Amino acid sequence: MLTRLIYHSENHLGAADGKMIVGLNAIMDAANRNNQRLNVTGALLFDTLWFVQILEGEREAVSATFRRIVTDERHDGVTLMDVRPIKERLFGNWWMGLGLLRGDNRPLYERHSIGQRLDPRRLTGEQVLALALDLAATGLNRRL
Ligand code: FAD
Repeated sequence: MLTRLIYHSENHLGAADGKMIVGLNAIMDAANRNNQRLNVTGALLFDTLWFVQILEGEREAVSATFRRIVTDERHDGVTLMDVRPIKERLFGNWWMGLGLLRGDNRPLYERHSIGQRLDPRRLTGEQVLALALDLAATGLNRRL
């Protein structure tokens, strides 16, 4: 059964500097490698304080991936936002696409009433999905 899971968590990669970029790229590399093997697709929205991730795939594959992610010390406070069966994937082109708030997509974030900073505690799973889909339409990244 195809399933979509959305969660948010607190970024523990450290200060917003080169080390954080290296850490984020290591996560993206592992995600792209493992997700391809398990046929898991999705998007990771990143802010200096937060991760918000959408995982889609067969229920067993999404669960196995999520179990690995939850124990990762590079983040904390993993909080489920939504889990549901789906008929089709929305991020089928992305083993894991990375979305970031940048100067050029700020209007897109503003259209979603997200403003200057991504704070997933204020968002529903549906709002996250709508933002991630708009970001995917303009192009997510494979890594930084
Ligand atoms: P490895 O190849 O062993 O590790 C990859 C890199 O990450 C290496 O540089 C390694 O040193 C480093 N690393 C691994 N684990 C840790 C750790 N606990 N603390 C610090 N550094 C570490 N994995 C997926 O498979 N799919 C995903 O979609 C995915 N999304 C993630 C989203 C977030 C927000 C985070 C924090 C992690 C995510 N991960 C994802 C990574 C996941 O938590 C595991 O680290 C990874 O799946 C382990 O796979 P591996 O054994 O192939 O990694």
